[in-house]
Amino acid sequence: MLSRALFLIISLLLISPSSALAYGSNTLDRSTITITKSLNFDAKKANINPKIVKTLIRVFSWGIDFNKDLQKGDRFVIIGNQKATPSALIYIGAKKHLAVFSYTDKRGRTGYYDINGKSLYPSFLRAPLKYERISSKFQRKRFHPILKTWRPHRAVDYAAKRGTPVYSVASGVIQHRKRMGALGNTVYIKHGSNYVTVYAHLSKFARGLKPSSKVKKGQVIGYVGSTGRSTGPHLHYELRYKGIRRNPLTHPLPKQKKVDPADFWRFKNKANSILRSL
Ligand SMILES: [Zn+2]
Repeated sequence: MLSRALFLIISLLLISPSSALAYGSNTLDRSTITITKSLNFDAKKANINPKIVKTLIRVFSWGIDFNKDLQKGDRFVIIGNQKATPSALIYIGAKKHLAVFSYTDKRGRTGYYDINGKSLYPSFLRAPLKYERISSKFQRKRFHPILKTWRPHRAVDYAAKRGTPVYSVASGVIQHRKRMGALGNTVYIKHGSNYVTVYAHLSKFARGLKPSSKVKKGQVIGYVGSTGRSTGPHLHYELRYKGIRRNPLTHPLPKQKKVDPADFWRFKNKANSILRSL
């Protein structure tokens, strides 16, 4: 997220779709996509390299929900050479501004980082609680102890004492927080556009949380219980990626990256001068 001052600087961005701006002794290209229909449609109209569009979606899906947040008039600004790696990608929405800047680490990997030198994607914890044991793994067929039938279990069940705190595995936004039939008291948390985590059978919810509340990694969201269709206190935990339930024990999880401290001030100065030149 940008500070208020940067928000203002970006607000002053010119509207011309394509131009060049002075940056130090170099001149940086600038392209703008203004949303009228959809990102893909308007990017094509603005003659933006499809590879760049993919990068915009990959990077910004952690800060904006492309299905819900994108509105007519929102703008994406690409600073720098589209054929190589742009120096900065900026999103200017009605409610939110995001800016990321390219940085190449010692191993030669280039990524996009915010003004504080952090990737927009957060780190995920593998498990959402301190548990005693895993009572049921992710499996295609499991004999259900209550229903007495074989059915898939696309989740992990963690046995733990009633009242054990359950925390969000990553920063995100609460989607649901309610009693849901067989799942009992359940919390859904959305992390970026692609990940949703689900926490079920809770004895109670953490106070003060409601749909659209922001949560941090490790923040308590509820307590282990046995509500809904459950034989004893445990947490039923699901990890959904692009709508599909994945094995929470093995699915590769995002890990936030940071600009190397040795490069940080150089990175930040460059980022600030890009913002100032807008
Ligand atoms: Zn379960």
